[in-house]
Amino acid sequence: MTKFVGIIGYPLKHSISPIFQQAAFDYHRLDLRYEAWETEPTELASVIDRLRHPSILGANVTIPYKEAVLPLLDELDELAFQIGAVNTIVHRERKLVGYNSDSGGFLQALRERGSFEPQGTRVVLLGAGGAARAVGFALVKAKVKALAIVNRTLPRAEALATSLQSISAESQSEVYPVPWQDDKLKEIISSCHLLVNCTSIGMKHSPTETESPLKAGILPGDALVYDLVYNPLETPLLREARKAGARVIGGLAMLVYQGAISFKLWTGEEPPIKIMMEVAKQALVG
Ligand code: NAP
Repeated sequence: MTKFVGIIGYPLKHSISPIFQQAAFDYHRLDLRYEAWETEPTELASVIDRLRHPSILGANVTIPYKEAVLPLLDELDELAFQIGAVNTIVHRERKLVGYNSDSGGFLQALRERGSFEPQGTRVVLLGAGGAARAVGFALVKAKVKALAIVNRTLPRAEALATSLQSISAESQSEVYPVPWQDDKLKEIISSCHLLVNCTSIGMKHSPTETESPLKAGILPGDALVYDLVYNPLETPLLREARKAGARVIGGLAMLVYQGAISFKLWTGEEPPIKIMMEVAKQALVG
């Protein structure tokens, strides 16, 4: 019997998860279909409940439901609970278990594609939304020395810093919010080892698709600049960072690695990363 996995979000027309996940299922000759389940807010509870059907292995969850699905699930993995966001649901005998693979996908891409070990480093995080939460937890758990959280809406940066401080004692990381317009921002950026963009600035089909969150003049030439935005592959921020002489890493690797972690949770099989990466890249360049 064919089984199903899907992605739940709204809107979904630009998601490439169905393309690279299906390629991974087909590589292993699994009788599985990955579908896009575009879901209006009023339908969310019933769509989640339908995941309990025997033909469903699980789902991905994306914007805007990564936090809203938590109370609809039966169990949460510890990391997903700490982060407060779920992007992967696994169906096990009518129970729905929530995971967060964004965090692991981010770290794996940072280490493997960026050759960067975060322990003991100074990091600037732009943004304080769902992606920033997953990235912030990953970085503090990996024992960064300092994490500055910069966000347009300062109270969100303060709230994220407070949640991270609850786990930062163990890792001895210094976590603090910084207003976007702060005079000290330039100085903090100039001495960081890694700058991660977790805002949606520069994302294709968004009102800011031609904008970079920061200009080359303020970017650190000797640091790694990591943009979570993956569409387009070469974002305005990555162009500015290259101008400044920085090393860069785009969001595609994280997208594929988080998808690979989810793939393994649903199927138990080794994810064919190379194929998933090639197919995802092709889908983006058209
Ligand atoms: P979100 O929860 O909606 O958060 C959006 C963030 O962007 C907030 O911090 C928001 O600031 C900031 N922002 C948006 N427009 C802005 C503007 N014009 N000026 C300044 N700040 C602005 O979204 P998310 O889930 O965190 O996703 C953020 C980005 O990461 C998206 O582009 C998403 O595609 C990408 N992402 C990539 C991966 C991957 O695998 N590569 C995984 C997850 C997410 P305010 O708080 O002030 O509104």
